[in-house]
Amino acid sequence: MLEIENLSAWYGEAQALREATLSVGAGEVVTLVGRNGAGKTTLVRCLMGLHRHLTGSVWLDGRDITSLPAHRRARAGLGWVQDDRGIFANLSVEENLLLPPRVSESAWTLEQVYDAFPALGIRRRAGGTTLSGGEQQMLAVARVLRTGARVLLLDEPSEGLAPVIVAQIGEIVRTAKQSGIGVLLIEQNVRFAATVADRHYLLAQGRLVESLDNDEFVERQDELL
Ligand code: ATP
Repeated sequence: MLEIENLSAWYGEAQALREATLSVGAGEVVTLVGRNGAGKTTLVRCLMGLHRHLTGSVWLDGRDITSLPAHRRARAGLGWVQDDRGIFANLSVEENLLLPPRVSESAWTLEQVYDAFPALGIRRRAGGTTLSGGEQQMLAVARVLRTGARVLLLDEPSEGLAPVIVAQIGEIVRTAKQSGIGVLLIEQNVRFAATVADRHYLLAQGRLVESLDNDEFVERQDELL
């Protein structure tokens, strides 16, 4: 579904990514794990069309999207759940859910959202920022599902959140997976990654050094911390 082939990226002369090749299938959760400076943010920026100094290619559902600008990638079905969650404070939960443009037939209806995330249904008239951290993540993901994105890109969703909320995020990711969406999760939290993902890529100094299934990853998680 999402395929990245031989992606290299530079900041000026300095190379930040080195021939990274990875894929995410339908209904598959894949993590990209790496220490600070490994190149995770650079890879996300390349995927979203925000970093242009690169070689290699990015494919979504068999279509080469390497040269598309950021807004056209969203329309092509690549759903970026942004760090700051992009929730409008002065709008209610439901109003936030009504905003995203529909980009494909698989766009979720409000009913589907409230079925999958009952907490959002209960709080649909509440203001976006009165939600808990976990509910805000739900809303951020639900907004992307409302567009009909085929692949979700989640950049460190567990960062700075309490364990109980991290567990809720795990549930959110599983819900997306069950609906056939592919999820690429950028994570530094190895323990959390092991609870949600099917496969993992380890990134070090701009290179994808290993690809592990979840059993191998769990066996080796202590050395990966
Ligand atoms: P972190 O988790 O700390 O954000 P990361 O894995 O996301 O780390 P990147 O931010 O992608 O890593 O950085 C990869 C490499 O590119 C690092 O060596 C970093 O110093 C370098 N780099 C990142 N942004 C820039 C920039 N704007 N100009 C020059 N070098 C940069």
